[in-house]
Amino acid sequence: MDKKGILIVVSGFSGAGKGTILRELLEKYDNYALSVSATTRKPRPGEEEGKAYFFKSNDEFEKMIAKDELIEYAKYVDHYYGTPRAYVEEKLKEGKDVILEIEIQGAIKVKEKFPDTLLLFITPPTIAELKRRLISRGTESMEVIEGRLLRAREEAKGMDRYDYLIMNDELDTCVEEVHRIIEGERRRSFRNLEFIENMKRELKGE
Ligand code: 5GP
Repeated sequence: MDKKGILIVVSGFSGAGKGTILRELLEKYDNYALSVSATTRKPRPGEEEGKAYFFKSNDEFEKMIAKDELIEYAKYVDHYYGTPRAYVEEKLKEGKDVILEIEIQGAIKVKEKFPDTLLLFITPPTIAELKRRLISRGTESMEVIEGRLLRAREEAKGMDRYDYLIMNDELDTCVEEVHRIIEGERRRSFRNLEFIENMKRELKGE
């Protein structure tokens, strides 16, 4: 089968549990690489530089844009977020499946630039559950939470542009489902053109 990794975008409403799912997925399987984004928002307690995000000033971020160092970027609730290019390209070449945990505007830009990208959207079982998770996280003010719910309303409009919707009800089941979808994706014939060509050549006795 072809070696190059798959570029995967994972989106979902803030509070849908994307972070936890991806952490588990990366712990369990070693074919994944998670891209670390740059952002101008302030770190939340416990978030480390270079692990959660690369935290940047507005100026620094705009310089990265100017130098074309980002595959995509977007503004989300008053802050810039963007995907650094170098890491993604390097890991794909190594054969890793690279995951971008980004919001919908970025997802659409990535799909336009790289049409082979797999788009996954993680949803909570219900909106009531989403609100409960956002409030119980306890890291944001009510005002920020309201902002995120408003944003979710916008994002819901684009859910049908994703390849798969994954409901995050039970964590382990959800992690397995994500993994199985990606495994299936690897078998798509358009991702294995090199393999097909080799078979044809061998059959011709070359
Ligand atoms: P948070 O502030 O909760 O960490 O992230 C807010 C939103 O920004 C989430 O929906 C997250 O997926 C998205 N996000 C994180 N990094 C990027 C990025 O590099 N590009 C884009 N477009 N969105 C991002």
